[in-house]
Amino acid sequence: MNREELIMVCCCDLAGQVRGKGFPASELASRLKRGVGWVPTNAMITAFGDIGDSPWGSRGDLLLVPDPETKVRVEFGDDSPAEHFLLGDIVHTHGEPWGGCTRTFLKDALTALQQEAGLTLLAAFEHEFHYSGVEQRANGSYNLDAFRRQDVFSEVFIHALRQAGLEPDSFMAEYGPQQYEVTVGPRDGLRAADEAVILREMARATAHRLGHNVSFSPLVTHEVVGNGVHLHMSLHDLDRKPVTYDKSGPGGLSEVAAQFAAGILRHAPAICALTAPSTVSYQRLVPHRWSASYTNLGFRDREACLRICPVVEIGDADIAKQFNMEFRAADAAASPYLQLGILVYAGLQGIREKLPAPPITDRDPEEMSEDERAAAGIAVLPRSLAEALDALEADDVAKNWLPANLLKGYLPHKRFEIGLMAELTLDEQCKRYAEVY
Ligand code: GLU
Ligand code: MG
Repeated sequence: MNREELIMVCCCDLAGQVRGKGFPASELASRLKRGVGWVPTNAMITAFGDIGDSPWGSRGDLLLVPDPETKVRVEFGDDSPAEHFLLGDIVHTHGEPWGGCTRTFLKDALTALQQEAGLTLLAAFEHEFHYSGVEQRANGSYNLDAFRRQDVFSEVFIHALRQAGLEPDSFMAEYGPQQYEVTVGPRDGLRAADEAVILREMARATAHRLGHNVSFSPLVTHEVVGNGVHLHMSLHDLDRKPVTYDKSGPGGLSEVAAQFAAGILRHAPAICALTAPSTVSYQRLVPHRWSASYTNLGFRDREACLRICPVVEIGDADIAKQFNMEFRAADAAASPYLQLGILVYAGLQGIREKLPAPPITDRDPEEMSEDERAAAGIAVLPRSLAEALDALEADDVAKNWLPANLLKGYLPHKRFEIGLMAELTLDEQCKRYAEVY
């Protein structure tokens, strides 16, 4: 059959869903200037498709304008259409940024970090997910046979990532049945978030061509281990010199990195509203699931909210270049732009206030008394999405990082979603989320 190639321009919206519009590839030059038409109320479409009360109703017009830097064109070596899309920014019809745009939120956060603190951020999103194309097998964890059984998935996926401009680092059978993990190299903040969107889509695109599917949902069933997003971050000065490490600092953190960490931990309950934004996210954020459940800083501890990550110290390895911290209270129900954006604002707030270095926990916070935790400045993370949204609304500093249009869309959007899930059992909720993420 004869075909004409189409390109999609997409955003990754408040629901963390990738939505957009297609146009003939021959029109790209013109679409790079004028984008495609978009509607404010699109921001209110939940992951399940239902729309609650919208602050914008049926009114208003916007544009979704592709950023040429994000272009993805990946062929799969079969007869299927190439994956051809760009990511973009939502602007008013006169071209000014629209406050409800998630990508603009991250751009503004990174600009503030650069202008106020003279810093840039390198980030990498580490993803876990479930792949349906392999049998549920006992003892698959890191197992060669579990690796083998996903067959060509990993090689097609890694090829697609490489074609899309990512730098694949590792792929493994993770702890849970049918669970896999992929890591990629670090990038500048905005590109890292773009690549998180691209990576999720390349996994879906690969599975689709193999007649299967993947799910990045934080919890696919209540019996199995969750799918986390671990968000690695390091700070650099304007000459791209790494400034996160100081040999003599607590846990190796430089003064500015410790302030950045302190800002994140102080605002972590509010941050969760954007980084772990599904009702089932909070079944993952409980003690002893190797995720995070308290606002603590850990040194190489996989249950800390913020973990100082290991570095390779063999030979003349450059420690300062590798040194990074990882935020673990995140999952792929979220838009990467919102996730990284709020972390940057929180870290910057810690720098602005010159917050003292958070204590590094050497014990399981769950085993500390409430008084001990209070003395160490450790709070419990929200236990539900409703609590996280309330924490965001109650945090006057964090709330103000979100432009008015983002806040007025996000809170009702997510509260409506909670209502949609309210009558369902946990397993039914897991099933619904597994289908859409
Ligand atoms: N699956 C765990 C999570 O939900 C993470 C396991 C690991 O440390 O990689 O975050
Ligand atoms: Mg993992």
